[in-house]
Amino acid sequence: MTPKNIRVEDVDGILKEARTEELLEWAKYMIPYYGVRPIVIKEGSGSTLRDISGKEYIDFASIAHSNILGYGCQEVKEKMREQIDELSTITGTHGYSIPALQLGKLIAEIAPGELSRYYSSAGGSESVDIAIKTVRAVTGRQKIIARWGGYHGCLAWSGSASGTVLYKRAYDPISPGFIHVPPPYCYRCTFGLEYPSCGLACAKVIEDAIKYEGPTIAGVIGEMIIGGGGVVVPPDDYWPTVKKTCDEYDVPLIDDEIITSFGRTGKMFACEHWGISPDVMTVSKGLASCYNPISAVLVTEKIAKGVEKLQAYHFNTYSYHPVSCAAALATIRVIVERNLVDRSARLGEKLRKKLSAIVDEFDVLDGLGGKGLYFGFEIVKSKQTRVPDPDLAGRIANSAFKNGLLINVSRMRMKEGVIGTICPPLVVTEEEMDKGLEILRSTIQQLI
Ligand code: PMP
Repeated sequence: MTPKNIRVEDVDGILKEARTEELLEWAKYMIPYYGVRPIVIKEGSGSTLRDISGKEYIDFASIAHSNILGYGCQEVKEKMREQIDELSTITGTHGYSIPALQLGKLIAEIAPGELSRYYSSAGGSESVDIAIKTVRAVTGRQKIIARWGGYHGCLAWSGSASGTVLYKRAYDPISPGFIHVPPPYCYRCTFGLEYPSCGLACAKVIEDAIKYEGPTIAGVIGEMIIGGGGVVVPPDDYWPTVKKTCDEYDVPLIDDEIITSFGRTGKMFACEHWGISPDVMTVSKGLASCYNPISAVLVTEKIAKGVEKLQAYHFNTYSYHPVSCAAALATIRVIVERNLVDRSARLGEKLRKKLSAIVDEFDVLDGLGGKGLYFGFEIVKSKQTRVPDPDLAGRIANSAFKNGLLINVSRMRMKEGVIGTICPPLVVTEEEMDKGLEILRSTIQQLI
């Protein structure tokens, strides 16, 4: 093999302003793990994205449910720039950075219950893998209970914990030791029961799994509100019951708040809706509003002491990355200063009413659920049959996109449900919200 000799002119040739067609042609250099719309998004401000031709899209997806501050937030940009000027990286045993230490103190101030220690890395899946690794080490047990329809990421253990089977078909089984139980989704109850006469069978089954598996369960993992799997809000007594069970059997509860933290659901952390104090929590996305890659695992003092005692080594090059920590500090400051958590709750109630009217208007929409600025609804053949309509769901997402609105459609809420997800940045204006909802309404009207 002859070495490829690249000259600076070749690099500059690639960096020059390319035409859209030429850029899209270069998509062939990417590994096609998932499909991407053939457009190039060039810039964004507030809740609006612009493609390379100048066409605008209202972002009701916050991209991957992550960009809570919208695009171009001045404060975050400035703090990131200042940090890059001062120190672009430091990691491992070489020393702490100022923002990494400040972020630890700030997280300890805002994290719920006993969570007071943190470790940061680059992405959500990574933090879930680390959370699982940690509970396995400190409990000395191996198995993890997770839920069908739950989503925890794509890596070895996070992918195994994910109950969104569609997404891991090509790799399954990824790793052993994961037990899936039905999710608390009343619209399509696995047990065919109705709440509350069901006796909360979906929570009870977690206790059964812990008992039947004997003392081998290292943790129970779940999203307080299932997210990627379709915005599933459980009955109010679900999480308190599961937490009580976990405490009784001394099994740590891992609360995956990678989507739901930092105000997305109208509370700083979704577990606050149910007064739950988890043993481990994972956060990412909203933590730095996706301005730089960062995720974090939060644990109690007791678990951190266990890690220390065992000398349970874990390290990532991107741990406590100073620029990401600076972005997270600035993001949290903006959230607090602009009172975005309350805003999410208040505006979310308006969004609920408006979405409810749209869902009532069309027989093909049903099962609206959500909290704060985070909602999902089923796309079905009819309200009466509840038969999912993936074809219509795809057409709604594509037409809405052509009409200037980005929404996510997921095929994961339970095994067959198809969900439209509405998840605007927390800074979305009421005008933008109304405009986006009108695009959604008229798009559906055109299609049915
Ligand atoms: N957990 C949850 C609840 C998520 O929603 C996601 C991402 N959608 C992940 C984990 C994985 O995060 P990442 O894509 O950053 O690896």
